[in-house]
Amino acid sequence: MNIENLLKYQKRDEDLFKVEQKLANSAYRRKAAELTAVAKKAQAKSTELENHAEKLIVEIGEIKEKYNLTKKKAEGMVAANIENMTMEELEKTNELKQKIMQNLAILEKMLQKSAETINQILSEFNKTKKAYDEARSQYAICKQKIDEETKELEPEKEKLKKELLALEKDVDPALMAEYKKRRNDNIFPVVVPLENGTFCGRCRMEQPKVAISKLKEAGVIVCEHCKRFIYQK
Ligand SMILES: [Zn+2]
Repeated sequence: MNIENLLKYQKRDEDLFKVEQKLANSAYRRKAAELTAVAKKAQAKSTELENHAEKLIVEIGEIKEKYNLTKKKAEGMVAANIENMTMEELEKTNELKQKIMQNLAILEKMLQKSAETINQILSEFNKTKKAYDEARSQYAICKQKIDEETKELEPEKEKLKKELLALEKDVDPALMAEYKKRRNDNIFPVVVPLENGTFCGRCRMEQPKVAISKLKEAGVIVCEHCKRFIYQK
Protein backbone atom coordinates (compact mmCIF):
# COMPACT_ATOMS: atom_id res chain seq x y z
CA MET A 1 0.00 0.00 0.00
CA ASN A 2 1.26 3.40 -0.93
CA ILE A 3 1.11 5.63 2.08
CA GLU A 4 2.87 8.64 0.57
CA ASN A 5 -0.46 10.42 0.22
CA LEU A 6 -1.38 9.71 3.82
CA LEU A 7 1.97 11.12 4.90
CA LYS A 8 1.26 14.23 2.85
CA TYR A 9 -2.13 14.44 4.54
CA GLN A 10 -0.56 14.02 7.96
CA LYS A 11 1.98 16.77 7.24
CA ARG A 12 -0.86 19.21 6.73
CA ASP A 13 -2.86 17.72 9.59
CA GLU A 14 0.06 18.51 11.87
CA ASP A 15 -0.65 22.21 11.37
CA LEU A 16 -4.25 21.66 12.37
CA PHE A 17 -3.17 19.59 15.35
CA LYS A 18 -0.87 22.41 16.46
CA VAL A 19 -3.69 24.94 16.28
CA GLU A 20 -5.92 22.61 18.28
CA GLN A 21 -3.20 22.07 20.86
CA LYS A 22 -2.60 25.80 21.11
CA LEU A 23 -6.27 26.30 21.93
CA ALA A 24 -6.46 23.36 24.32
CA ASN A 25 -3.34 24.44 26.21
CA SER A 26 -4.02 28.15 26.34
CA ALA A 27 -3.30 29.81 29.67
CA TYR A 28 -6.93 30.97 29.85
CA ARG A 29 -8.21 27.46 29.38
CA ARG A 30 -5.97 26.16 32.13
CA LYS A 31 -7.01 29.02 34.40
CA ALA A 32 -10.66 28.29 33.62
CA ALA A 33 -10.18 24.67 34.65
CA GLU A 34 -8.55 25.80 37.89
CA LEU A 35 -11.39 28.20 38.61
CA THR A 36 -13.97 25.51 37.96
CA ALA A 37 -12.22 23.35 40.55
CA VAL A 38 -12.19 26.25 43.03
CA ALA A 39 -15.91 26.90 42.48
CA LYS A 40 -16.75 23.22 42.89
CA LYS A 41 -14.77 23.03 46.12
CA ALA A 42 -16.53 26.14 47.44
CA GLN A 43 -19.89 24.61 46.58
CA ALA A 44 -19.06 21.42 48.43
CA LYS A 45 -17.88 23.46 51.42
CA SER A 46 -21.13 25.47 51.44
CA THR A 47 -23.19 22.29 51.46
CA GLU A 48 -21.10 20.94 54.31
CA LEU A 49 -21.56 24.16 56.31
CA GLU A 50 -25.28 24.18 55.63
CA ASN A 51 -25.62 20.62 56.88
CA HIS A 52 -23.63 21.45 59.99
CA ALA A 53 -25.77 24.54 60.67
CA GLU A 54 -28.99 22.56 60.20
CA LYS A 55 -27.87 19.96 62.72
CA LEU A 56 -26.85 22.65 65.15
CA ILE A 57 -30.19 24.44 64.87
CA VAL A 58 -31.98 21.21 65.78
CA GLU A 59 -29.62 20.81 68.74
CA ILE A 60 -30.24 24.37 69.87
CA GLY A 61 -33.99 23.76 69.73
CA GLU A 62 -33.59 20.73 71.96
CA ILE A 63 -31.43 22.60 74.47
CA LYS A 64 -33.91 25.48 74.56
CA GLU A 65 -36.75 23.09 75.23
CA LYS A 66 -34.82 21.52 78.10
CA TYR A 67 -33.93 24.96 79.39
CA ASN A 68 -37.56 26.12 79.38
CA LEU A 69 -38.73 22.96 81.16
CA THR A 70 -36.06 23.36 83.80
CA LYS A 71 -36.90 27.00 84.24
CA LYS A 72 -40.57 26.21 84.73
CA LYS A 73 -39.62 23.68 87.35
CA ALA A 74 -37.56 26.32 89.13
CA GLU A 75 -40.40 28.82 88.99
CA GLY A 76 -42.77 26.20 90.40
CA MET A 77 -40.46 25.71 93.33
CA VAL A 78 -40.20 29.40 94.02
CA ALA A 79 -43.99 29.60 94.05
CA ALA A 80 -44.33 26.63 96.40
CA ASN A 81 -45.36 27.48 99.88
CA ILE A 82 -42.37 26.80 102.08
CA GLU A 83 -44.03 27.83 105.32
CA ASN A 84 -45.72 24.48 105.83
CA MET A 85 -42.56 22.47 105.10
CA THR A 86 -40.64 20.49 107.63
CA MET A 87 -36.91 21.18 108.01
CA GLU A 88 -36.18 18.02 106.12
CA GLU A 89 -38.48 18.97 103.25
CA LEU A 90 -36.99 22.42 103.15
CA GLU A 91 -33.50 21.02 102.91
CA LYS A 92 -34.50 18.69 100.11
CA THR A 93 -36.17 21.53 98.26
CA ASN A 94 -33.11 23.68 98.58
CA GLU A 95 -30.92 20.88 97.31
CA LEU A 96 -33.21 20.38 94.34
CA LYS A 97 -33.27 24.08 93.67
CA GLN A 98 -29.51 24.19 93.60
CA LYS A 99 -29.38 21.29 91.20
CA ILE A 100 -31.88 22.98 88.93
CA MET A 101 -29.91 26.21 88.99
CA GLN A 102 -26.77 24.29 88.11
CA ASN A 103 -28.57 22.61 85.24
CA LEU A 104 -29.82 25.96 84.01
CA ALA A 105 -26.29 27.34 84.09
CA ILE A 106 -24.99 24.34 82.11
CA LEU A 107 -27.76 24.69 79.54
CA GLU A 108 -27.08 28.41 79.23
CA LYS A 109 -23.42 27.70 78.55
CA MET A 110 -24.38 25.11 75.93
CA LEU A 111 -26.64 27.62 74.23
CA GLN A 112 -23.91 30.22 74.23
CA LYS A 113 -21.42 27.81 72.73
CA SER A 114 -23.88 26.77 70.03
CA ALA A 115 -24.54 30.40 69.20
CA GLU A 116 -20.81 30.98 68.86
CA THR A 117 -20.47 27.98 66.55
CA ILE A 118 -23.37 29.21 64.45
CA ASN A 119 -21.63 32.56 64.10
CA GLN A 120 -18.43 30.82 63.07
CA ILE A 121 -20.30 28.80 60.46
CA LEU A 122 -21.98 31.92 59.17
CA SER A 123 -18.71 33.77 58.78
CA GLU A 124 -17.12 30.77 57.07
CA PHE A 125 -20.15 30.50 54.84
CA ASN A 126 -19.77 34.12 53.81
CA LYS A 127 -16.09 33.61 53.11
CA THR A 128 -16.86 30.56 51.00
CA LYS A 129 -19.58 32.40 49.12
CA LYS A 130 -17.15 35.21 48.39
CA ALA A 131 -14.54 32.75 47.06
CA TYR A 132 -17.22 31.15 44.89
CA ASP A 133 -18.42 34.46 43.48
CA GLU A 134 -14.85 35.54 42.83
CA ALA A 135 -14.11 32.30 40.95
CA ARG A 136 -17.30 32.66 38.92
CA SER A 137 -16.55 36.20 37.84
CA GLN A 138 -12.95 35.36 36.96
CA TYR A 139 -14.22 32.36 35.03
CA ALA A 140 -16.50 34.60 33.00
CA ILE A 141 -13.49 36.73 32.01
CA CYS A 142 -11.50 33.62 31.08
CA LYS A 143 -14.39 32.24 29.08
CA GLN A 144 -14.56 35.43 27.07
CA LYS A 145 -10.82 35.26 26.35
CA ILE A 146 -11.13 31.62 25.32
CA ASP A 147 -13.95 32.52 22.95
CA GLU A 148 -11.82 35.29 21.49
CA GLU A 149 -8.87 32.95 20.98
CA THR A 150 -11.10 30.34 19.39
CA LYS A 151 -12.65 32.88 17.07
CA GLU A 152 -9.27 34.27 16.13
CA LEU A 153 -7.94 30.87 15.06
CA GLU A 154 -11.16 29.81 13.37
CA PRO A 155 -10.21 31.05 9.84
CA GLU A 156 -6.89 29.22 9.99
CA LYS A 157 -8.61 26.06 11.14
CA GLU A 158 -11.18 26.30 8.37
CA LYS A 159 -8.49 26.82 5.75
CA LEU A 160 -6.55 23.77 6.95
CA LYS A 161 -9.68 21.65 7.07
CA LYS A 162 -10.45 22.53 3.46
CA GLU A 163 -6.94 21.62 2.40
CA LEU A 164 -7.20 18.33 4.27
CA LEU A 165 -10.47 17.54 2.56
CA ALA A 166 -8.75 17.94 -0.80
CA LEU A 167 -5.78 15.79 0.26
CA GLU A 168 -8.08 13.12 1.68
CA LYS A 169 -9.32 12.23 -1.82
CA ASP A 170 -5.93 10.72 -2.65
CA VAL A 171 -5.83 8.47 0.41
CA ASP A 172 -7.21 4.95 0.59
CA PRO A 173 -10.64 5.33 2.28
CA ALA A 174 -10.21 2.43 4.70
CA LEU A 175 -6.81 3.74 5.77
CA MET A 176 -8.23 7.24 6.10
CA ALA A 177 -11.06 6.00 8.32
CA GLU A 178 -8.58 4.26 10.62
CA TYR A 179 -6.39 7.36 10.65
CA LYS A 180 -9.34 9.55 11.68
CA LYS A 181 -10.36 7.16 14.42
CA ARG A 182 -6.94 7.57 16.04
CA ARG A 183 -6.84 11.28 15.40
CA ASN A 184 -10.18 11.65 17.20
CA ASP A 185 -8.63 9.91 20.17
CA ASN A 186 -6.01 12.66 20.16
CA ILE A 187 -3.28 10.36 18.89
CA PHE A 188 -0.74 12.31 16.87
CA PRO A 189 1.26 11.66 14.78
CA VAL A 190 -0.79 8.71 13.61
CA VAL A 191 1.75 7.43 11.09
CA VAL A 192 5.33 6.92 12.24
CA PRO A 193 8.39 5.36 10.59
CA LEU A 194 9.91 2.04 11.57
CA GLU A 195 13.14 2.72 13.40
CA ASN A 196 16.32 0.66 13.20
CA GLY A 197 14.41 -1.91 11.20
CA THR A 198 12.38 -3.13 14.18
CA PHE A 199 11.08 -0.41 16.54
CA CYS A 200 7.93 1.71 16.54
CA GLY A 201 9.00 5.27 15.67
CA ARG A 202 6.91 6.65 18.50
CA CYS A 203 6.74 4.35 21.52
CA ARG A 204 9.95 2.43 20.67
CA MET A 205 8.23 -0.90 21.17
CA GLU A 206 10.02 -3.68 19.32
CA GLN A 207 7.77 -5.12 16.62
CA PRO A 208 7.46 -8.88 16.18
CA LYS A 209 9.26 -10.48 13.23
CA VAL A 210 5.93 -11.50 11.68
CA ALA A 211 4.84 -7.89 11.68
CA ILE A 212 8.07 -6.75 10.06
CA SER A 213 7.66 -9.14 7.18
CA LYS A 214 4.05 -8.06 6.88
CA LEU A 215 5.23 -4.47 6.72
CA LYS A 216 7.38 -5.29 3.71
CA GLU A 217 4.34 -6.70 1.95
CA ALA A 218 1.60 -4.33 3.02
CA GLY A 219 3.62 -1.12 3.44
CA VAL A 220 2.05 -0.43 6.80
CA ILE A 221 1.44 -2.21 10.12
CA VAL A 222 -0.17 -1.23 13.39
CA CYS A 223 1.96 -0.95 16.53
CA GLU A 224 0.53 -3.33 19.09
CA HIS A 225 1.43 -0.98 21.90
CA CYS A 226 0.50 2.55 20.80
CA LYS A 227 -1.80 1.59 17.89
CA ARG A 228 -0.03 3.93 15.51
CA PHE A 229 0.62 3.07 11.86
CA ILE A 230 4.20 2.14 11.20
CA TYR A 231 5.67 2.50 7.70
CA GLN A 232 9.05 1.67 6.25
CA LYS A 233 11.00 4.82 5.49
ZN1 LIG B 1 4.14 2.26 19.08
